[in-house]
Amino acid sequence: SPQTEELTASVVQDKVPEAPDPPVKVVVRIRPAKGLGIGDTSVSKVSNNSLSVAERNYTFDSVFDSDSTQGDVYQLVGAPLVKDALSGYNTSILAYGQTGSGKTYTMWGPPSAMVEGPSVSGLQGIVPRIFQNLFSEIQKEQGNSDGKMINYQCRCSFLEVYDEKIGDLLDPTQRDLEIKDDAKNGFYVENLTEEYVTCYEDVTQILIKESSSKCFGSSKISRISLVDLAGFERNVLDDASRQHVKEGKYIKKSTSQLGRLVNILAEGSHSGKSEEVPYRSSRVTHLLRESFGGNAKLSIICTISPDNKSSSETVSTLRFGLRAKLMKNEPVVNVI
Ligand code: ADP
Repeated sequence: SPQTEELTASVVQDKVPEAPDPPVKVVVRIRPAKGLGIGDTSVSKVSNNSLSVAERNYTFDSVFDSDSTQGDVYQLVGAPLVKDALSGYNTSILAYGQTGSGKTYTMWGPPSAMVEGPSVSGLQGIVPRIFQNLFSEIQKEQGNSDGKMINYQCRCSFLEVYDEKIGDLLDPTQRDLEIKDDAKNGFYVENLTEEYVTCYEDVTQILIKESSSKCFGSSKISRISLVDLAGFERNVLDDASRQHVKEGKYIKKSTSQLGRLVNILAEGSHSGKSEEVPYRSSRVTHLLRESFGGNAKLSIICTISPDNKSSSETVSTLRFGLRAKLMKNEPVVNVI
C-alpha cells in the first residue's frame, strides 16, 4: 500500500522516523455546555488526546475541548484529508454522535456561516473549508509544476439516505437510487448527479479547460466523502409521532449496521475480502464501503454533549469511537 506521510505537526528529532498517520483517525469534540450550571457536566478534557466521563478515562487521537475553534478541528482533521485526496487516497470524514451534539455544526458550521461565500470566516465548518483548500492546494501545485502538469477534475455529488432510500440532493426528482458495486464498473451510485464543482467557479473553469488541452501526468482518482450521520439515540425511537417511529427504525438500522460493520472490522475476523464484510446490510454501510477499506483514509469525529443526561449516549459514542480505532482497514478486493 502507498506510503503515508506524517500529517500532524510534531517535534521531530534528527533520525527519529516519522510516525505514519493512523489508517483510522478518531477524534472527539465536546460541545459547549451552553447554559449548564457547574455540576451538570461529568465530561472533561484530561489532555490533548484524552477525556474523562463519569471518572473514567478514554483516549483517542485527539480531544477537542468545548472552546476549540472550527479552525482547530479543520487543521487536524480536514487539512490532512485534502493532501491525502490529492495523493490519490479515498478519504472520508464521518461525524458520529447523538442529535444536538454538534455534528452539523462541525461539518458545515452554523447557518449564518453558510451564506458567507468563499471566504472562510471563523465559523465555517469542515465542508466549506475543504472545498476552499482543495482548490487553493490545486492552484499551488499547478503553480509549482516542474514541467509535469497534473490535471485535476473535481466533481461533486450530494446525497442523503432516508428510509433506506438514496436521494439525490442535486436532483430532487431522484429519490431512490441504486448502488452499483460490480467487478466491471466498480463502485458507484447509479444516475447520481455529478457536477463539476462550481463553488469556486473561476478555478474549476480553468482546470476543466486545462484537462482537455493538456492531458499527461498521472491519473489518480480519489474520492472525498463527507458524512453527517443521523443521530442514533433512543429518544428518536420513543417519539410518539408515527413518522418519527418510522424514521427511528431506519436510523436504528443504519447505525446498528454501522456498529456491526465496525465491530467486524475491529475484530479482524474476516480475510479482507469485501464479500465477507456485511457492507450491504444497509445503505449507509454500503455507501461507506470505499471509506473503510483499500486505498482509504478515514477520520471519525465523535461529537458529544457534556450534560449529565446525555451521559449514556456519550459513553456509547465514545465506545463506537474506540472500536472504530481498532479497525484494521484491510484492503478490499479491488473491483475496478
Ligand atoms: P447535531 O448535528 O449533532 O444534531 P448540531 O450541529 O445541530 O447537532 O448542534 C446543536 C446545537 O449546538 C446547534 O445550535 C449548534 O449551533 C450548537 N453547537 C454545536 N456544537 C457547537 C460548538 N462547537 N460551538 C458552538 N455551538 C455549537
